[in-house]
Amino acid sequence: MMPALLWLLFYNVDWDKFRDALMENPELYDVDTDTPGISGEGMKPEYFQKVRLINFWGFSNLVKEAMRKGYKPGNTRVAMFCPGRTDQGVYANLKIDGIDGTDAQDVSRAQMELRLMIPDAVKFIHDWLPGWKNAVLIGASPILGIQDTRVIVGEYVLTLEDILASRRFPDVIAIGAAKTDNWDTYELIYPKGNYDVPYRCLVPQKVENLLIGGRSVSAAREAMMSLRCMSMCAATGHAAGAAAALCAKRNVTPRKLDYVLLRDLLLRQGAYLSSKDG
Ligand SMILES: Cc1cc2nc3c(=O)[nH]c(=O)nc-3n(C[C@H](O)[C@H](O)[C@H](O)COP(=O)(O)OP(=O)(O)OC[C@H]3O[C@@H](n4cnc5c(N)ncnc54)[C@H](O)[C@@H]3O)c2cc1C
Repeated sequence: MMPALLWLLFYNVDWDKFRDALMENPELYDVDTDTPGISGEGMKPEYFQKVRLINFWGFSNLVKEAMRKGYKPGNTRVAMFCPGRTDQGVYANLKIDGIDGTDAQDVSRAQMELRLMIPDAVKFIHDWLPGWKNAVLIGASPILGIQDTRVIVGEYVLTLEDILASRRFPDVIAIGAAKTDNWDTYELIYPKGNYDVPYRCLVPQKVENLLIGGRSVSAAREAMMSLRCMSMCAATGHAAGAAAALCAKRNVTPRKLDYVLLRDLLLRQGAYLSSKDG
């Protein structure tokens, strides 16, 4: 299970100060240089000078130092974002391991424990994060961020190998290219090309008359780390909805649906099913 997360929203974050601190002391404020960034040149400190909306992972040295001095940042490094308003900041960092998102008691425990971590995290933020000294906490997410929970076992189980090999399928209903992000290890794997998601991933092996879209489609855990991104959830959700409408119209179950009909409908509705459709 990847960790359960709680995100905090602040205002009055001085992002210019944050940018300057990165430039002045890049070794202390280490960043994930293997992350491509929006224009692909890597998240070097200079990158943050160019972008208005920041999406940052790093500071593991700074966190280590703070923890040695008794601070409790809630994680071993810092993930932070600048959402739409430029003086706002999201501290996407409070985490708790070993939470089973399908277990109500686990989820309740995590809700309580994560909220009890907030005062310590705010102290760390004020004392250690450049530009966050006067940041004011204005909200905590009302529900937990649970990364992985139930998925179906479908007619096909998409694997990481399929993703890395840019595998094509005759019954493609969506194309993906997102990195796999593993919040256990913070390892990011970037596929070299794009990959197909077959219709069979939406059709459960054992249950009749059911279609699945979003982050519960049939995929191995590592493959889900790419498939669960929002754009793919939207694309598989679109396909599941279109397939359901066709099944109702034709009076067939999802397992028996003629894929060619689904493909034609998705293409008419603007889906990209091959690089030629762009
Ligand atoms: C902390 C965190 C950070 C993430 N960051 C990113 C990111 O930066 N970029 C990205 O692309 N993806 C990110 N993701 C992944 C992405 O947000 C999710 O995988 C995606 O939103 C899942 O979409 P979904 O529609 O399958 O499920 P959900 O978004 O979970 O939607 C399911 C909906 O069903 C509702 N529901 C549940 N049970 C019932 C019921 N019985 N009756 C009625 N409604 C019900 C829920 O309330 C919910 O609204 C992140 C996920 C997390 C947890």
